[in-house]
Amino acid sequence: MHEARGAERLPDLWEEARAEAMSEPERLLYRSNLLGSDLRITNFGGGNTSAKVRERDPLTGEETTVLWVKGSGGDLGSMRLDGFATLYLDRLSSLKRLYRGREHEDEMVGYLPHCTFGLNPRAASIDTPLHAFIPHPHVDHMHPDAVIAIATAEDGERLTAELFGGRLGWLPWQRPGFDLGLKLEGLARNRPELDGIVLGGHGLFTWGDTARACYQTTLRVIRQAAGHLAAHGRPQPFGPVVAPTLSPSEKTSLLAELAPRLRGRLSVDVRKVMHFADGPQVMEFVSSSRAEELAALGTSCPDHFLRTKIWPLFFRFDPATETAADLLGRVDDGLERYRQRYQAYYQRCRRADSPPMRDPWPVIMLVPALGLLAFAADKTTARVASEFYVNAIGVMRGAESVSAYRPVAEQEAFDVEYWQLEEAKLRRLPKPGSLAGRVAVVTGGAGGIGGATARRLLAEGACVAVTDTDAAALEEARLALAKEHGKDRVAAFRCDVTDEASVRESYHLVAREFGGLDILVSNAGIASAAPVEETSLELWNRNLGILATGYFLVAREAFAVMKAQGLGGSLVFIGSKNALVASAGASAYGSAKAAAVHLARCLALEGAELGIRANVVNPDAVIRGSRIWGGRWRQERAEANRIAFADVEEFYRNRSLMKRSVLPEDVAEAVLFFAGEASAKSTGNILNVDAGNVASFTR
Ligand SMILES: [Zn+2]
Repeated sequence: MHEARGAERLPDLWEEARAEAMSEPERLLYRSNLLGSDLRITNFGGGNTSAKVRERDPLTGEETTVLWVKGSGGDLGSMRLDGFATLYLDRLSSLKRLYRGREHEDEMVGYLPHCTFGLNPRAASIDTPLHAFIPHPHVDHMHPDAVIAIATAEDGERLTAELFGGRLGWLPWQRPGFDLGLKLEGLARNRPELDGIVLGGHGLFTWGDTARACYQTTLRVIRQAAGHLAAHGRPQPFGPVVAPTLSPSEKTSLLAELAPRLRGRLSVDVRKVMHFADGPQVMEFVSSSRAEELAALGTSCPDHFLRTKIWPLFFRFDPATETAADLLGRVDDGLERYRQRYQAYYQRCRRADSPPMRDPWPVIMLVPALGLLAFAADKTTARVASEFYVNAIGVMRGAESVSAYRPVAEQEAFDVEYWQLEEAKLRRLPKPGSLAGRVAVVTGGAGGIGGATARRLLAEGACVAVTDTDAAALEEARLALAKEHGKDRVAAFRCDVTDEASVRESYHLVAREFGGLDILVSNAGIASAAPVEETSLELWNRNLGILATGYFLVAREAFAVMKAQGLGGSLVFIGSKNALVASAGASAYGSAKAAAVHLARCLALEGAELGIRANVVNPDAVIRGSRIWGGRWRQERAEANRIAFADVEEFYRNRSLMKRSVLPEDVAEAVLFFAGEASAKSTGNILNVDAGNVASFTR
């Protein structure tokens, strides 16, 4: 969680020695990365920068001015040079002759590609005219909480004049586009003394003659705004804290009950995952006396309501006098009232050509003493939405500390949310994977089959929590998976599947991380071999403990979460050929695996009417990448089969009907089938992945 306050101390990170050696576009990139890397300066994905650069026209060979401006999509902090759109400035100016007025704003976007310089494929954003028409070489447009606080204050225009001594102009709220570009140009030309303009309800424009001057002006304005709020803001602008914060373990237990319940209700059309936030800024707001009243006013700044919807849903909760059951009792009613309010908002504000109503459920939910729960179709979207609401809290805090918070009018918020151009952007998004919005737990996730399975489910878009007893191997697995699929969708929790408390705790952590559970892959295992008279009770108990009791415990807890969600679910057990076929010298292992397979059938029966499916994947001799096959078990199998240690893999390959080695990836493919909708009508099944073995043909 970032700390948006303290912007009065923003450091100047510009290194002139480095910047001097750069080309003008490189300096623009340098400035953009510096600005975009600090959330006090602009929110994630928000804001844009530009420079007007003299370049040689490849067609005429003559010098021309090219507008380099951050293109559509991406984030300033991490963007590269290819993130900029490049356009002929004179062609952009000539569009003024084609402009037919505010009712025809959107058609201007269609002309932008005609102004492209240098065959640049990066699409120009709707903010392009804002940068193009400001008559200064370098322009920054930022969304700093401290300035938006002033931009959304009841008397924002007066505050701007007072605070910046006439060096910043003011334009009242207007949707970004061609017309706003013309207004910015008019004001900047009429008042050449200005360093920038505050856009009511939106953010900040600043400019300069050089990249460095522009950067410094941007920092100075934000520092000044933040400094004013810090020095003159009244304490406790949200009122006193009325609900003392719960302890971390109390929060986790409460979330374990609340999150799956919410997730089940919110996933009516699209499966959703959760991101939970409870940093100090969130807690100060959600637990305050004025949280409900302020949250109902709605967010401001176009980015905020695009990501968080116009308002969050606030649940009343007083942990001093109420229990989790009281809070859970408010879920259905609260969501239903939100849905009706959202539908009424859509009906009130819709225009003849508005896109159809989107999902009517809340994105952000606030609970006093607990925190903020964000739900979206994927984890990154949920996390980013939660961060935007933290920005919105910072804005409300600033505005309320020196004035009164006044968000933009509802119709304006609607026109941004249901903008045809935004709708077109949504339609261009890549098709999500088959498991997008699904949450999976893979036990034994640090091993060969577990790791390959986690990887396969992640590749289909699932959020995956891997568990294991070996903390070091688990952390290594988490890092490797996060490197391939990003940090957001990967979690790792230490779990001993034979320990009831450990299993329960890890499911609580999964609920806190992702909001619930759809898929359990019960895979954590061991293997042992010994003639029956040499099978100690300890060895017998160890096999039964992990492979039968362990499978029971993780499946029972998963079953309970799935039932609470009401969205069905898929339990996939990694069995073994030995579950079906007696094998000499492995009675403990084989009996335990047989118990697991039978448990899956029992769960298939009990889960059927709830849509909870249970199936078994039966691998045989998955040697490569296996931790089980790494040591003693391999030695034991080598001795039992009277072959050399090094020949084990070849021995098992030749024993199969198809003479092929079975790899962890082959098992993962079968798990994926049972995990997803492709097998929606299969339960109580066994799928062998053993390269063919007549003894284990199911019947
Ligand atoms: Zn903006």
